[in-house]
Amino acid sequence: MKNLQQPITEEIIKSLRKQLKGALITPNDTLYDETRKVYNAMIDKHPGAIAMCTDVNDVKVAVDFGRNNNLLVAIRGGGHNGGGLGLCDGGLVIDLSGLKSITVNTDNSTVKVGGGCIWNEVDTATHEYGLAIPSGMVSSTGVGGLTLGGGVGYLARKYGLTIDNLLGAEMILADGSIVSANQNENVDLFWAIGGGGGNFGVVTEFTFQAHNLNTVYGGPTLWPIEQVEEIMEWFDGFIRTASDDINGFIATMIIPESPFPEHLHNKKFCGIVWCYVGDMTKAKEVFAPILAKKPIFAHVGELPYPAIQTMFDGLLPTGMQWYWRADFFNSLNADIRAQHLKFGSAIPTPLSQMHLYPITGAASRVGATDTPWAYRDAEYCGVYVGVDPDPKNADKITKWCKDYYNALHPYSAGGAYSNFMMDEGQERVKASYKQNYERLTQIKHQYDPTNFFRVNQNIIPKL
Ligand code: FAD
Repeated sequence: MKNLQQPITEEIIKSLRKQLKGALITPNDTLYDETRKVYNAMIDKHPGAIAMCTDVNDVKVAVDFGRNNNLLVAIRGGGHNGGGLGLCDGGLVIDLSGLKSITVNTDNSTVKVGGGCIWNEVDTATHEYGLAIPSGMVSSTGVGGLTLGGGVGYLARKYGLTIDNLLGAEMILADGSIVSANQNENVDLFWAIGGGGGNFGVVTEFTFQAHNLNTVYGGPTLWPIEQVEEIMEWFDGFIRTASDDINGFIATMIIPESPFPEHLHNKKFCGIVWCYVGDMTKAKEVFAPILAKKPIFAHVGELPYPAIQTMFDGLLPTGMQWYWRADFFNSLNADIRAQHLKFGSAIPTPLSQMHLYPITGAASRVGATDTPWAYRDAEYCGVYVGVDPDPKNADKITKWCKDYYNALHPYSAGGAYSNFMMDEGQERVKASYKQNYERLTQIKHQYDPTNFFRVNQNIIPKL
């Protein structure tokens, strides 16, 4: 299908400005360069206009305007997408950062969250009531993109992915209609947004199931990189049989100068960041076999849930060069472990790292077609992340990620978590939704037959 994109003219800008309550930022505005920035500083897109929506009506105005004028449209939630899918070149960006309402219902532990919130805002609001929603591991990430792609975080083994805790959404569709999607209304649409990304419309409000959770017991443990094969093999055995109460992601990394002790600085490590959510009086007992593996550094203890959620925010501020590649894995066999030693020993810059997140426990007990998130049977969601503040290192971190990916992809389950992908083409999108792609294309056809929402990991509409 060919999508004709019209340029944004002065006339269009004038007319849209009249209808929006929020600001419309255009290339002539002094705020333009600041406003077109996203988390990943490698992304340098130049939209024709950015609509800073203040409410649902502003979003509807922008959607209607984009459709009626044949504009290319991108939706920006938290702006953290690695491939910069919250922005477009030349078209209209619908920025949701003004949609910030959060309402906690303590009667049934449900939470309504505006489509432009970031997780930090949600965690802070729910923690006040001793509640938490499963999300990711860096709290500056947007609720919109993370949820619509799936949401892998510390609570995945206990309570599932973020989408497994999504009860409903208020949406504006490509034709401008405002609809609810949940288990009783627009049921197909509700299924599709549980992993199908921003393909189906703009979500202006999410409703989540939250869980009683005040404090967790966790933090990082480190071993020298030379031990990565041994620790990975042990971790694989440990986490497969562990209770859902404990989760941890295993990583290769360089330890930065702060906030870690000096003897660790700038050295390469195999690390595991733990998060235990069970009975706190049993935490020390649970951690005994972990500490028996004699980590060179362990900083584990009881802490409020928002503290573990924000633990790495400071190390990963906005404005870094960022490139990543990802895959799912069913095992961490000896060949795979050997590659982690090879590439973990060659991490190119201090903030670059590899993470493997377990997809076990509650996340694995959801059926492979119950949501678009197709790899419920995988053991791990892996990602190689190249990060550095200096644009001069962009090629270096990109090459390391691609080489790491190329070496391990043959051992992978095939596709990747869509939220950990760059712009990698249609075949890769199909592989990531696997058996669910076909149904997604049909629902896309029903709700967005012209592929109006196409700045995303795109699902092509098909009858
Ligand atoms: P944006 O760039 O704003 O949007 C991403 C995509 O979602 C775009 O296609 C956009 O159109 C669409 N979108 C966003 N909001 C809406 C909405 N309200 N309605 C319709 N479409 C919308 N993921 C995890 O699962 N777990 C993690 O632990 C994790 N950690 C991360 C840490 C960092 C530092 C970064 C940069 C990313 C991390 N991610 C993680 C990946 C993250 O889930 C994706 O980058 C996600 O796309 C970010 O969402 P966003 O709203 O911030 O992004």
